[in-house]
Amino acid sequence: MDRVDTNSRIVAAYRARTPGSATLAQEAAELLPSGIAHDARHIEPYGIYVERAAGPRKWDVDGNEYVDYFGGHGALLLGHNHPAVTQAVQTALGQGTHFGANHPGEVRWAAAIRRLVPSAERVRFTSSGTEATLMAVRLARAFTGRDTLIRFKGHFHGWHDHMTFGYSNHFDGSPTVGVVQGIAAKVVLLEPDDPAALETALASGDVAAVIIEPTGSSFGQVPLRPELLHTMRRLTERAGALLILDEVVTGFRVSSGGAQVAFGVTPDLSSFAKIVAGGLPGAAVAGRADILDRLDFAAAARTGKEKVQHPGTFNANPVSAAAGTAALGIIAESDVNKRADATAVELRAALNEVLAEAGVRWSVYGTSSGFHLFANPRGREIAPDKFDPLAIPREEFKEQPKRLMERLRLALLTEGVDVNGRIGGYVSATHGSKEVADTARAFRAAVGMLKAEGEVG
Ligand code: PLP
Repeated sequence: MDRVDTNSRIVAAYRARTPGSATLAQEAAELLPSGIAHDARHIEPYGIYVERAAGPRKWDVDGNEYVDYFGGHGALLLGHNHPAVTQAVQTALGQGTHFGANHPGEVRWAAAIRRLVPSAERVRFTSSGTEATLMAVRLARAFTGRDTLIRFKGHFHGWHDHMTFGYSNHFDGSPTVGVVQGIAAKVVLLEPDDPAALETALASGDVAAVIIEPTGSSFGQVPLRPELLHTMRRLTERAGALLILDEVVTGFRVSSGGAQVAFGVTPDLSSFAKIVAGGLPGAAVAGRADILDRLDFAAAARTGKEKVQHPGTFNANPVSAAAGTAALGIIAESDVNKRADATAVELRAALNEVLAEAGVRWSVYGTSSGFHLFANPRGREIAPDKFDPLAIPREEFKEQPKRLMERLRLALLTEGVDVNGRIGGYVSATHGSKEVADTARAFRAAVGMLKAEGEVG
């Protein structure tokens, strides 16, 4: 399992703190590929094994406490174990986990989505965001009678066959291993800030849909000017193609109604996951009634058009429905979005202060309740707190020095902070000034450790 051959003091300190995780990782390596269940949880020499969590924090099997910015891959705007969500889940569990029938909870859950997202005229539940974007694409093709899907380089929409190439590799549009050429041939990959190229691609007349992460790839790690969404809306409408906003991350986070409400863009279809199910598995595709009608038995009979099929054992699972409805109710009725956003502003400023103090020309940036580290791979003259990510060529964001980022992540874990592998994360409404102060202290120590190892100047 452990392939890291290193004298790094950061790695040694990490190992010394996490013997229980090391043992579990060894066991896992015999059972799970790479010992993990999600590529983003791959850490060298091994990741932490977490036993419990509460609010903005979690604890590993060795008893170490972490300020958590992984945030359930973005699902936990309300933090871990929000009491109202936990109560709703416990009540639902007591009533049964699967009825093999319609249930009142799914109606309430769909209504909770529509209350926040005006474009959600109809909702179809799925189990994951991957399934939601898969269904969105299928609906778009059925509705338009066209084949081609337009995606943008770097944008992530899950792991089904149409979405695997062009977000971290295969930017030439060739299929990744295990995906057939025929599928890749029906996907056009474009640069997100090139409306002329989009217009040209749309002119083929065969474009069923354009799908995009509305704040830019990886929740705005590579940010997007919101005006581009309006341009895309205009161009797709004119070309008779559908606009799918993938709000799996941004939904109910960027505003209570997602990025579409925040930016005033009305998509034809949206995909939701993560927050929509209150921290449990669950997702949805939502949008125009006439498009979702392609799933409707009566509409198929009326129009004589073949219905899009959609089974799915855990669609609208009652426990997820209860968690999602409770979470969306809190989002509708409180200021959780604003609170998380405000703490993220405080966090980004505190981390940039650490960088300025240490004389490191990196920056922590982001919008809404997210943050990302720019490690300045080309050594630009930047001031941490004045960095404008929109002024940087997109490819530079993907040139983050891999080893340095891995070391920084381990150093942060050693200091009690869990961030994602790109060195960024999600702030929840339960994070506050105490978490910001703890994170700044950990970041200062981590930068010091990197300096001591000669990883940064
Ligand atoms: N779309 C976006 C923007 C995502 O960030 C993700 C997951 O991170 C997905 C789709 C896929 O969702 P899931 O992991 O639930 O399949």
